[in-house]
Amino acid sequence: MKKILAWVGILLFLGACSYVGYRAYLHIKAQNEKIAELERSLETTEKNLAEVTQNSASLLDALSAEQQKNGFLVEQAGTFAAAVQRLTGTVTTLEKLTKTDPELLIKYSKVYFLNEHYQPEKLTLLRKDYIYNSKEEYFHARALPYLENLLSEAQGAGIPLLLVSAFRSFETQNDLKSQYKVTFGTGANKFSAEQGYSEHQLGTAVDFTTPTLGVLFEKFDTTTSYLWLTENAHKYGFILSYPQGNTYYIYEPWHWRFVGVELAGKLHTENKHFYDMDQREINDYLVKIFD
Ligand SMILES: [Zn+2]
Repeated sequence: MKKILAWVGILLFLGACSYVGYRAYLHIKAQNEKIAELERSLETTEKNLAEVTQNSASLLDALSAEQQKNGFLVEQAGTFAAAVQRLTGTVTTLEKLTKTDPELLIKYSKVYFLNEHYQPEKLTLLRKDYIYNSKEEYFHARALPYLENLLSEAQGAGIPLLLVSAFRSFETQNDLKSQYKVTFGTGANKFSAEQGYSEHQLGTAVDFTTPTLGVLFEKFDTTTSYLWLTENAHKYGFILSYPQGNTYYIYEPWHWRFVGVELAGKLHTENKHFYDMDQREINDYLVKIFD
């Protein structure tokens, strides 16, 4: 009986063990399946991630290429704009040059003077109160504002300054030369050689005087008006064409010519004379003569 009980006990124990083992086996199996599933899912996730990463890299590459392209385009656009600006500048300069009479800055001499048929592009009648004896005098229309500013500044500074002559045609000049000869005889050969005649024919040259001197302006350089001009005329673009000791003509302290503010300023600052400058160097100032 005891033996039977013992066998029954053993059998029961084994049975219990088997049951527990089976349950454990089932549990482990389920766990393993879960792990396998997780691993599979992980693998898929990794794969997806790798794909996404690759795609991102491609996108970044594409973006950077696009940016580079844009940068290049921006750079190109900049270069293009600069080229257009340069071209516009050149066109403006050319346009200005074609509209500016090149004769205005030519050095005239006994051997090189204006053609007798030359006429300035446009002349304007000067205000009578600027002229000694209120004669009718004409001046180059585009240079006129500079002359008017000069005269009004002088007036404002209490400087007596009048014009005795401005534009002269070739014929007028010829008549004048013979007149001088008649009036002053041989001694006036100096006067008849008033070689500024080409400059007067340009319409941009004037002869100054004072109310006191009138037509006898040979002593003009002894006046405060002359002194004022030597210090201020350049601000309005005027220069003394034939200073003392020049090799071109007789000294003409009364005769001033418009050459533009920039060139006149340069000559004043460097204490140089127009006729001592190289013609090619002078020509560079033509485009700026009315600036
Ligand atoms: Zn003159």
